[in-house]
Amino acid sequence: MIEKKGLLFDIQSYSVHDGPGCRTICFFSGCPLQCDWCANPEGWTYKQKLMFAKNKCKATKGCTRCINACPYDAIHLSDEQISIDWNLCNNCKTFDCTKACYHEALKICGNWYTSADLMKVLSRDRQYWGEKGGVTFSGGEAFLQKEFLLEILKLCKEKYIHTAIETTAYTDPNTFLQVMDQIDFAFIDVKHMDREKHKKKTGVYNDLILKNIENLSHSSWKGRLVLRMPVIRSFNDTDENIHATVQFMKRLGLFEINILPFHRLGDSKWSQLGKIYPYRKEEATPPEKLNIIQDIFLNNDIACYIGSDTSF
Ligand code: SF4
Ligand code: SF4
Repeated sequence: MIEKKGLLFDIQSYSVHDGPGCRTICFFSGCPLQCDWCANPEGWTYKQKLMFAKNKCKATKGCTRCINACPYDAIHLSDEQISIDWNLCNNCKTFDCTKACYHEALKICGNWYTSADLMKVLSRDRQYWGEKGGVTFSGGEAFLQKEFLLEILKLCKEKYIHTAIETTAYTDPNTFLQVMDQIDFAFIDVKHMDREKHKKKTGVYNDLILKNIENLSHSSWKGRLVLRMPVIRSFNDTDENIHATVQFMKRLGLFEINILPFHRLGDSKWSQLGKIYPYRKEEATPPEKLNIIQDIFLNNDIACYIGSDTSF
């Protein structure tokens, strides 16, 4: 049998915010959306990427090792500062510069795993999960690597591992239900109810996402579904959108939502990828705003958790 491989840009152990109990989070590379506030832009593409942490670079101390190591002449020095030609790096296959950098300023984001490799990591972590914990598949969007995901889910089932997913639900409806059938717990993002506004900030219309949520709510799936909304000022935090979300949830009989305050943690990752973060100056969502949104949901008999203050 040829083992399938999956590309993951991170694996985090001991997470207590991504599903019940203590969990291991597997971040799959590749995403069909590109939300402009994204905190994990390194997960957008289904390929390995170069990341450059300027604050670790020792060019000011005379280091130029990466310049000679790059076979494509993509790195230049000016005023003791390294600059990178990202157009060249986006097509690089060798990443020779990362081997030359002893200071971890240059690194490859994304590693290939066989299902056996990944199960080895999960088996190692299992002792820390306790009774309620398990594994959460996040990203990027794990559905983009459906075959690998299904193989891992099958192995998890065989070992009685609790499985959760954080998903955009932007995938074809048959695939969606087929994969969800193997999953115990799901977070699905509802970023905006208006399709045009959704497209403007995420790059895609929300029709497929809402359709998949609807199909799931009408299916015989036995798992627990919690919708999630990252609260973005002047985008989805309006009364109009919150009430539209309430109506959508009530129509489908869904009664749990997790609202996530905006934070700027993605900023350094955007610059490590050579991009400018559009929310550089944006403040974290004020607690009063989150409380107002929470009250609207609670007044409609929908359990609304703020951030990591959840019931699971
Ligand atoms: S090898 Fe690393 S530390 Fe040295 S100049 Fe290049 S990026 Fe900076
Ligand atoms: S990723 Fe490739 S092209 Fe870019 S600097 Fe490194 S070796 Fe050169």
